Amino acid sequence: MKLEEIYAKYDEIIRKDSSLPYIKCKDCNYTFFYARHFCPKCGSRNIEVLKSSGIGKVFSWTKIYRKGETWIYGIVELEEGFRVYCNFTDNVKIGDKVKVKIVRNDKYYSILASRV
Ligand SMILES: [Zn+2]
Repeated sequence: MKLEEIYAKYDEIIRKDSSLPYIKCKDCNYTFFYARHFCPKCGSRNIEVLKSSGIGKVFSWTKIYRKGETWIYGIVELEEGFRVYCNFTDNVKIGDKVKVKIVRNDKYYSILASRV
């Protein structure tokens, strides 16, 4: 699978219902989010693009204060086994169950996690 094909598949999954895409290695079962055309763990190109349930738990978080605004930012570990950086829409604690959505504006994607 070429990188352009992976980007196209990611785009399709995101546009359909704001679900989070991810990649699974068919050789070693490693899962990851960032679009790559090979497995970062074993180097295999035998990979597939899948749609995540979006359900995960808070792995870490921090508050960012900037220009009078506050963001809660951190890492979610999805039930499929991979992790993503995201913005939290609520105050969270490590281990809280969250649902992750990915939304697209003109140029950028942003990943948002809300407590469930
Ligand atoms: Zn692999």
